[in-house]
Amino acid sequence: MALLDDLSGYEFEDLMVDVFRHRGYENVSQSARTADEGRDILMEEVVDGRRRAVVVECKHTDTVSRPVVQKLHSAVATYDYGGPKRGMVATTGRFTGPAREYAQELGTESDGGVELVDGTDLREIGEEIGMDLYNGRIEILCDEALAPFPPNTGPAAPVFDVVREIENIDPATIPTPETSVTFQPMVSISASTSATFETSVGVIHSLNETTELVVHAADDEPRVARGERSALVTNRAAPRIDLEDRRTELDAAVDAAVDAAVDAAVDAVERERFGRTETAYKEWAVDRLRQAHTTTVHYTGDNNVDYEKTCTPSRSDVSIRSIDPIYLPRVHSRVELGEYAYRYEFDAAGSARSTTRNDFRECVHCGADGIDATYTYCANCGSINCDDHIETERVEHEPVCTGCAVTERFALRRKYFYDEANREAFREEYAAMAVHEKAMENVPLAVGSVLALLVACIVVGSSVGVL
Ligand SMILES: [Zn+2]
Ligand SMILES: [Zn+2]
Repeated sequence: MALLDDLSGYEFEDLMVDVFRHRGYENVSQSARTADEGRDILMEEVVDGRRRAVVVECKHTDTVSRPVVQKLHSAVATYDYGGPKRGMVATTGRFTGPAREYAQELGTESDGGVELVDGTDLREIGEEIGMDLYNGRIEILCDEALAPFPPNTGPAAPVFDVVREIENIDPATIPTPETSVTFQPMVSISASTSATFETSVGVIHSLNETTELVVHAADDEPRVARGERSALVTNRAAPRIDLEDRRTELDAAVDAAVDAAVDAAVDAVERERFGRTETAYKEWAVDRLRQAHTTTVHYTGDNNVDYEKTCTPSRSDVSIRSIDPIYLPRVHSRVELGEYAYRYEFDAAGSARSTTRNDFRECVHCGADGIDATYTYCANCGSINCDDHIETERVEHEPVCTGCAVTERFALRRKYFYDEANREAFREEYAAMAVHEKAMENVPLAVGSVLALLVACIVVGSSVGVL
């Protein structure tokens, strides 16, 4: 099977646009399609700080002869560009001897020259950028990830942050969280759509939109990421790490954490695969944007009749500016406190986080997880509790949860104890109390009784004419 066999000439041109973008050329675009020929690719390169235009002719044929090189050479000469420029002919096949000689005379990589890229060169380029050489699909090669932890802190720092929100736990006293990281494949796609729709009455609709799409790329079917997660991926300022050099990068973070007297480690790191090729994400994005920008326009014709027209941008109206793969870390932390294990999970880009699970903001007894609610820790059993499930321990005056407390009624009011021993101790204390002290064990009842007595006095007093 020949190189890039399955592609049509136009598809080959589209593919070459991606290939050049991968090779670091800038502003890669296709010129307007003319009636009889394909479109040239126009792009720029920066060599030694100098910007130069490159005009490319693509030929998806077995052999390319001298006239093709000549014709491109004239196209370069007439191309309107305010600076140096050169040409390039790319083919899946080979160049004839005369074509090579002619290009040699022009000087291949000098101003005004024409570089020849043949099937053998494309093979090398393909391997370099992860292109499947038979169907033109470009695989995603990605070693870059957003940093799972803020620089200079360690994996435990985010857990300490959420624990700090619970007032009665000192983060310094909790055990080191177990941490693992899953690197989730994401693709961010930048595209522009511009189209003009005309009828006999003139332009009825035009579009000029730029779209940034962030996509979850682990599954076969791309899913659009929104909100916080999308913001994490598009944040250009977020620190990044190289997954190939992962050990050194993460160890540095761990070292910093140790410096901060936090004993921390990343116990497991897992990396997921991208579900589709870059080419497929590009096609998916083009289809999606064509649909998203489809509108029905009503207009009145010259004959005063009302018309309705559905305006859908064509494939070539959508141009993909960039496709950037990146791994978004999901950090899973687990801490055991007493009888309970708590998980805190979040997607991260350096110090920015999007929480996906936070057991520290959920009552173990009723599952209440209100955003504004307060949560209290029960040191007796290790539970985290909503306001309804936390009480004050009668002997120690510390929070105790309704789940583990031992209870008994005193002065008609339920009292909470850490254990049997504390309850027994209080029984003795209570037995020794004076009557008014016992009454104070039920403040609302005591206050209520005093008030009732006062009201009774007033009623009695006024009826006998004293007041
Ligand atoms: Zn609760
Ligand atoms: Zn408890």
